[in-house]
Amino acid sequence: MTADDFRKAAHAAIEEIISYNENIAQYRVLPTVKPGYLAPQLPRSAPEIPETWENIQPDIAEKIVPGLTHWQSPNFMAYFPGCSTYPSLLGEMYSAAFSAPAFNWLCSPVCTELETVVLDWVAKGLSLPSSYLSDCPSGGGGVIQGSASEAVVTCMVAARERYLHAKCDAEGLENPSPERDARIAALRPKLVALSSDQAHSSTMKGSNIAGTLHHSIVTSRDNALAVTGDDLTLALEKVRSQGLEPYYITLTIGSTSTCAIDDFESLKSVFDRAENAQIWKHIDAAYAGAALFLPEYAKSLAPFTAMVDSFNTNFHKWLLVNFDASCLFVQNRNHLTRALSISAPYYQNKHSDSGLVTDYRDWQIPLGRRFRALKIWFMMRTYGLSGIREHLAHTIKLGDLFADLVRSRSDLFEIVAEPRFALTCFRVKPSALTVSTTSALTNGDASEVEANSITRQITDRINAEGTIHIIGSSAAGQTFIRVVSANSNAEEKYIRGAFEVIVKITEEALKERRE
Ligand code: PLP
Repeated sequence: MTADDFRKAAHAAIEEIISYNENIAQYRVLPTVKPGYLAPQLPRSAPEIPETWENIQPDIAEKIVPGLTHWQSPNFMAYFPGCSTYPSLLGEMYSAAFSAPAFNWLCSPVCTELETVVLDWVAKGLSLPSSYLSDCPSGGGGVIQGSASEAVVTCMVAARERYLHAKCDAEGLENPSPERDARIAALRPKLVALSSDQAHSSTMKGSNIAGTLHHSIVTSRDNALAVTGDDLTLALEKVRSQGLEPYYITLTIGSTSTCAIDDFESLKSVFDRAENAQIWKHIDAAYAGAALFLPEYAKSLAPFTAMVDSFNTNFHKWLLVNFDASCLFVQNRNHLTRALSISAPYYQNKHSDSGLVTDYRDWQIPLGRRFRALKIWFMMRTYGLSGIREHLAHTIKLGDLFADLVRSRSDLFEIVAEPRFALTCFRVKPSALTVSTTSALTNGDASEVEANSITRQITDRINAEGTIHIIGSSAAGQTFIRVVSANSNAEEKYIRGAFEVIVKITEEALKERRE
């Protein structure tokens, strides 16, 4: 492809992308393709003869778009959003053009330097304590990871190494020494990571990758599905009584199922106990951390980030930047670099050797890294902090509207968790199952089971109908529907439209059940 060919192709592609975005609400949000739909439409091997863009581009409309779930559609209310905006697309374009897997500062100094500046902007925008800024004397700083899951596992590996070496130091074992190696080998199988039953699955996966055990803390509806100080104390006693050594915990601001927030007020005194000092505390705020851009949330939540070792939030969910961009902040970068820095002759250069530059390869699991700071930088400049706040406040207001609509049909539905951060979780009310064909309603447990079952059926029927896309989840024995209004294209008419679809399908399902 020559430069002229590229100019023509790029203009055509951009026109098609703009048209896709402008017409996004008209697409059926979930595709109707069947598994395996694509392969029969494509040649079985790559073409021997070069093809022109004129030949390639039509496949987007004919073969690719039919297989898309339209995450940017205002009718996409499932999971958490994966917002994509024009400034972030421009960032991706330049990033691809400059294509530098910039693992060391020298690989492309601006990739590192822009990331450091942008992450300081982000830390300040979120009102994080100054200990997370790149110039803080205590060694804090931020780094962009590909995903929240990567942020979690990166912290877990750093936590494991910090724990093991602190223990060996306390025991006076020389470093390095065969005695220390033997002690570490004996300790490792006893290490246990903790997280609640509401924390994202990435902590369990992370402990598998880090080669440690995992303990799940059971939360309750009485405590709004939050981990409390008492829960943590009991969990620590339990694992220690089994001879295990807790080295890491994930706490959450905005759990995946219901946006629960752990009870940091009561957790503080547990963290303050000397025997818990070596446990790495991480706050996963992959989705809801975005809300800290709003002063009212920053005031109540940002102070908790000072109590922990690390914090992450994704720009690729609520924050208007396309996948992937997860910002991880640590209080002390040395814990990452000590665990993850491996020297090899081919990495040596006078800048890295001087110790005066940041080499982000030592803050992450892969070596190479994408120039992700550009898309965050473009988005933050194009929207400004005021535009980001406007987007967050607007989508939270839409969430409040949706929750009010659910409350207005208290004959049909009940809200199962406090609606927050543009998420409402609700289910069919057991009392809406008035005429039962069984004796279930005389039995509270059975009516709970029925309410769960019909809520699950309604979720499936809503997705099969295809006007909107939502997902269900369950927590503390209740199955529910989640509706998220945090999409960057969300509007009141779509929220109202979604509620009408949900009511219609629920009434139909209840009627059929009675007949
Ligand atoms: N943490 C929370 C609270 C989440 O809700 C999610 C995904 O929804 C994740 C982590 C995983 O995010 P990622 O896809 O960036 O790994």
